[in-house]
Amino acid sequence: MATIDGNTLIARSLKKQGVDHMFGIVGFPVFGIAAAAQAAGIQFIGMRNEQAASYAAGAVGFLTGRPGACLTVSGPGMIHGLAGLANAQENCWPMVLLGGSSNSYQEGRGAFQEAPQVELARIYSKYAARPDQTSRIPFYCEQAVRSSITGRPGAVYLDFPDDFLAKQVEESEVTIPERCPEPSRTQADASDVQRAIDVLRTAERPLVIIGKGAAYSHAEKEIRDFIETTQIPFLSSPMGKGVVDDEHALSVAPARGLALQDADVVVLLGARLNWIMHFGLPPRFDANVKTIQVDIQAEEIGRNVPAEVGLVGDLQAVVGQLNSALDAEPYTFASDAAWRTALGKKVTENKAFVQNMMVDEAVPMGYYRVLREIRDQSPPGTLIQAEGAQTMDISRSVLMHSEPRERLDAATFGTMGIGLAQAIAFQVVHPDRKVICIEGDSAFGFSGMEVETACRYRLPIVFVIINNNGIGGGFNELPEDRFQSPASAYTIEAGYEKMIEGFGGKGYSVRTPDELSASLKQALDDTMPSIINVHIDPQARAKPQKHHWLTS
Ligand code: ADP
Ligand code: MG
Repeated sequence: MATIDGNTLIARSLKKQGVDHMFGIVGFPVFGIAAAAQAAGIQFIGMRNEQAASYAAGAVGFLTGRPGACLTVSGPGMIHGLAGLANAQENCWPMVLLGGSSNSYQEGRGAFQEAPQVELARIYSKYAARPDQTSRIPFYCEQAVRSSITGRPGAVYLDFPDDFLAKQVEESEVTIPERCPEPSRTQADASDVQRAIDVLRTAERPLVIIGKGAAYSHAEKEIRDFIETTQIPFLSSPMGKGVVDDEHALSVAPARGLALQDADVVVLLGARLNWIMHFGLPPRFDANVKTIQVDIQAEEIGRNVPAEVGLVGDLQAVVGQLNSALDAEPYTFASDAAWRTALGKKVTENKAFVQNMMVDEAVPMGYYRVLREIRDQSPPGTLIQAEGAQTMDISRSVLMHSEPRERLDAATFGTMGIGLAQAIAFQVVHPDRKVICIEGDSAFGFSGMEVETACRYRLPIVFVIINNNGIGGGFNELPEDRFQSPASAYTIEAGYEKMIEGFGGKGYSVRTPDELSASLKQALDDTMPSIINVHIDPQARAKPQKHHWLTS
């Protein structure tokens, strides 16, 4: 009779469940899983730290709707992978962390790299389990993937002791479950849909907020129709960008502060009222704001602010219901409303302010000039990763997206050091598109070694380091006694671009707009990755905000 081992069962089961990309680092006891994954047709991307591998797996989940996998060794390796497990869980992205673990029969004896891995994973996952025997591995793989994509998407963990992996079982004893179906597109209660439309009709200052749940749900067509029909102004969260074109006439992104503060009815489409949205509370929001909240997770409805109307269901389905209700009883927000005029005025003012910084040719450059160059040279459909506090924030206002799922950043968990991994995920999911990874110098440092990964797989990512000599910048030199350096200062004018040359990529060090323009052009045409190290003004800042709480 033919036999099959645990490694092969994992690989074939995951492949069947639609897992196409596995990021990780091999070692005891998972060498066999990576090899079996490749044999089963899963792309294996060998990374340099499990932390980055786990971040990449979560990004794949957001981009494809099926979990990316992260493979780690036992103990310390699995613990590094917890970073990405937590990040995916906080962002509601499917991913599966696969931890090798010490032999089950050595448990409690102080085995090599022994750790309570299932327990460690539990708090940051929807599902964490160790199969009870080799032959049942396929059952657990299906459970894990199904949990990660249904309901509110999230992270899952599977634990595989060494002795389960190598064990051979009779093929006739195992069944590999069929691919679990796409999650059903659940609809909201029809009477709630009607109530939502009734509340909208009463609005004097309505606002739609589009979050990354809308991008994840592929609700772009429905939301574009909804915005076009109702003519309500909208804002997008960082990764909700592009669900409706950022440059749509109804986008009030440049007047974000005013829009949030004065709106009387807010339609929340897959965005949580957490820190990113200042909890939906004053002073950022009006104390009497009414929310119409659409979310797949019933428990999310009413968090921080009681919802006027809660619509529990899938974004695409529920916005479709709203559109049908509007077909039956048309509603359009008045084109002459004072709200529209006030927002329009603010948009024009703020755009002019930023425009001045974007055309400033002074050397050293500031953030806006650098980002404008990236904007001008990016072909349509360019995928943007941005991180580093200021780099990320400012890039959001300069770089425009006309399609969803084209931007990744530190997101809900504020995870710095995620950038190189997300850029790698972007490029493996979309091999034919341009990927630009815009990094603050401190953000780059967390996972800088992943440039080797990008070079090895010939992923032609353009890494742009916006270098201000440290965390938050501000320093032009270090004191002679280095132990008196400010804690946030890094090497002045560090030559990060030289790193990539050791792996066959191309490095550029630039200071002027002309140098930036020429190097970016070359890098975008290159078939290998590049680093463009841009030495900006260490004192450069974002546009000053009117209230301190706008940046806190
Ligand atoms: P953002 O950071 O863009 O504001 P959040 O991550 O805070 O977005 O919120 C995304 C929300 O979208 C989560 O509350 C999540 O439950 C929800 N969500 C995810 N997938 C769907 C879906 N298919 N339909 C409806 N809501 C969804
Ligand atoms: Mg910096």
